[in-house]
Amino acid sequence: MTRRRWIADSWTADTATLTGDEAAHLARVLRATPGQIYDVVAGGFLHRAEITCVTEREVLFTLHEELESDAALPLHLLLAIFKFDHMEWAIEKATELGVARITPILARRTDKHLAQASEKRAARWRRIALEASKQSRRTTIPEIADPAPLKPTLEHESAVTRILLSETEQATTIAEIFTKSRVPHPSHTGTPARLLAGAGNEGSDEQSQPPVVALAIGPEGGWTADETALFTSQCWQPVTLGPRILRAETAAIAAIAIVSSHLA
Ligand code: SAH
Repeated sequence: MTRRRWIADSWTADTATLTGDEAAHLARVLRATPGQIYDVVAGGFLHRAEITCVTEREVLFTLHEELESDAALPLHLLLAIFKFDHMEWAIEKATELGVARITPILARRTDKHLAQASEKRAARWRRIALEASKQSRRTTIPEIADPAPLKPTLEHESAVTRILLSETEQATTIAEIFTKSRVPHPSHTGTPARLLAGAGNEGSDEQSQPPVVALAIGPEGGWTADETALFTSQCWQPVTLGPRILRAETAAIAAIAIVSSHLA
């Protein structure tokens, strides 16, 4: 049986603390006591951990040996901001599928009100990603960047393979990009299991590894011509997901699954 896994709210090199609802759940429902052993994710590292103290407010652990942990999918998702309920769904599912990082993009056709409200929403998106990480038993929590305009985001992109989801592209598919460009498999590039430190202590000095693939999805109205030109100038390759026009969130999930099958 797999041991129950918890994501610590704060940690040091050899201790971890769980607070809030989870501490209350451990104390009241599971009646946790000192000496019990659980798996605890602290700063992106999975450890065997022993409870040292339990209150309804916090549970303290001593961290024992580090365990083999699952790597995030080395994928950076650039998600144009669209209707928040659909966006939240996309963030939750992308997290379940393992993406390493999501940047919400203020696209030309992002609704103005949504664009204005997006900065405040980022905190909620991070909570959704954290919950989905726990639910899907991820060790790494995806980084949700602050909403950003397209140009600087593209200029800072370091992924080698850059895929632009485009409903106007007729021919090239994601599969073709992977067969043509021979994207290095993460295990062949020395990318360690712990791709991202994830949300956590400010003092954490964990270094995240850059994702090898970046994937961009447009807003409900699609990318404008000048946005598409910007992608092309930064070596992004337009791909199709087939002849139907998909909702942005459907396109995101389908594309992540396809990329994932090529990186597995
Ligand atoms: N402008 C479109 C809708 C855009 S769909 C319209 O005619 O109404 C939102 C985003 O989903 C697109 O920008 C694209 O990134 C992605 N998308 C939707 N369908 C797609 C397809 N068949 N192939 C590739 N990407 C697609």
